[in-house]
Amino acid sequence: MISTTDIIQLLPDHVANQIAAGEVVQRPASVVKELIENSIDAGATDIDLIVKDAGRTLIRVVDNGSGMSVTDLRMAFERHATSKIRTTEDIFNITTKGFRGEALPSIAAVAQIEAVTRMEDEDLGTKLIIEGGTVRDQLPAASAVGTSISVKNLFYNVPARRNFLKSNQVEIKHIQDEFLRVALAHEHINFRLFHNDSEVYVLKDSNLKQRIVQIFGRKIESNLVPITEETEVVKISGYIGKPETAKKQRGEQYFFVNHRFIRSNYLHKAVMDAFENLLQPQYVPSYFLYLEIDPSKIDINIHPTKTEIKFEDEYSIYAILRAAVKHSLGQFSVTPSLDFDQNPDWAFIPSKQKNESVKAPQFNVDRNYNPFRTDSGPADIKHLNESYQAAAEFIIENQSPEMLLSKEEFEFGEQTVIQWMNSYLITKHAGRLLIIDQNRAHQLVIYKELKNSADKNILSQRLLFPIEIESNPDEIMSLKNFESELFDFGFDVEFNNRSFRINALPVNTKPDDVPAIFSDFLEEMQLHDKIDFQTEILKIISKNTAVKKGEPMLPKQAEHLAQQLLKLDEPNFTPYGKKVFVQFDESEISKKLN
Ligand code: ADP
Ligand code: MG
Repeated sequence: MISTTDIIQLLPDHVANQIAAGEVVQRPASVVKELIENSIDAGATDIDLIVKDAGRTLIRVVDNGSGMSVTDLRMAFERHATSKIRTTEDIFNITTKGFRGEALPSIAAVAQIEAVTRMEDEDLGTKLIIEGGTVRDQLPAASAVGTSISVKNLFYNVPARRNFLKSNQVEIKHIQDEFLRVALAHEHINFRLFHNDSEVYVLKDSNLKQRIVQIFGRKIESNLVPITEETEVVKISGYIGKPETAKKQRGEQYFFVNHRFIRSNYLHKAVMDAFENLLQPQYVPSYFLYLEIDPSKIDINIHPTKTEIKFEDEYSIYAILRAAVKHSLGQFSVTPSLDFDQNPDWAFIPSKQKNESVKAPQFNVDRNYNPFRTDSGPADIKHLNESYQAAAEFIIENQSPEMLLSKEEFEFGEQTVIQWMNSYLITKHAGRLLIIDQNRAHQLVIYKELKNSADKNILSQRLLFPIEIESNPDEIMSLKNFESELFDFGFDVEFNNRSFRINALPVNTKPDDVPAIFSDFLEEMQLHDKIDFQTEILKIISKNTAVKKGEPMLPKQAEHLAQQLLKLDEPNFTPYGKKVFVQFDESEISKKLN
């Protein structure tokens, strides 16, 4: 007899699958991960990923793996149907990527599926069509050996989830991240990624180093330091990036445990610990580290979409990893070549310690570059520099908090600006002494000039010899998003798979500065999801074309720069917010003379 007070029921499968899909399938990239992992588990050596509209309309994975029998193909889409484990013990010895038998039914619950598969000793394959978890058709079909699974119109029956997807730019980036993680964990598999019919990555069977280079571009090759360590607890292999190539953004940091990408703040700390004192604050080195651990010593029972992992012997692994990284850094004598004093970081103004003479910092200077393009050379500057050195040393040593200048206060007589240490311009105004950072001043002047002319038509110069810059598909994809903005700004950029070429520049940009401009722009895009194109490009151009610290200037040039600066309504800070000058009044100086 059915009692009216009993209210618990088993969920119908399609409801259970949709609920599971909520956890397993968060976005197109999750589908990509599950399908590719299945192909690897099936022993494939060729895997193609074909994506349309960042995965919204199509995600197709084609492999040459084992294929499935007619019954297995049907079974694969049932809940908790897996070929990978049979007993509880198996869970503690997992060597495959999947084992829960959840992925395919979850994906099928929220999309339209077309799966085609054939096993080697069968003549004909099978095609299965499923829509929203319901099988629509199953029929014999011609097929290559292996499996092809197409996932169409993801979330077509769950509008709320579809609306939660981010922009195509963001979704394709997630897809690419998943793709690269798997590709980095399986360097002997051939992988290809196509997006909207264009080829994004073609990765051929290779060794690990070559795989890294295939993905990140040739420029990374000479920066990789190998690492190997074998202990009873863990085997470590892979590469770490040299400290001087560390970047501010996180990105090229990869841990793999038993060929599975994982995230681990704990292990990251171990690496950072090994790099201690070799990095500037906030810089993170690249690393590609592969750990092999007895599967029974890690907790594999993690959620399918999570990438965290639990180690039984966490503490030892930390210590071994840290030592291995340290050892590699030492062995390849990466350590002694570092010298932060050589880093032209404009954030500081050298302040003199007592009893220590002021030395000009060492910088690489392009002595042929004349920022104001006059014809005479910087011949008669030296003696002036020396005679003002004594006075200026004193001033630098005793900097006091400076006030902001107003426009009216500036005045110029004859020969009013002196360059000191090839880095500072010293001048007077309204009874005050002013020390201007020449690089920062020029940055600000260029920035304002560009900004004032930005609304007008920007003149572009075609280059006789276009500039080719090596890059990688990831950077090229992000740069492509700004193709038309760059063009409007005077940069004619042509994109290839692993490089881009600049055919034309804005007229007042020098070809020599172009690589640095693009490198800064790419870094800015990596750091921020959204950027204001115009402001960023203007800042970057002014930073890279300004007269450098350590660069000699003629008195006329120095004067011209100071005048241009002091004509500005707001001469006090660079576009990056750095102080442009310091100033001192007579009373401060006379106090010092007592
Ligand atoms: P799991 O991978 O956890 O077993 P899935 O739902 O991802 O669960 O897949 C279910 C089953 O379908 C797998 O165990 C495997 O037997 C089969 N399968 C899935 N994809 C493929 C493929 N590309 N080639 C061969 N077999 C596959
Ligand atoms: Mg699976």
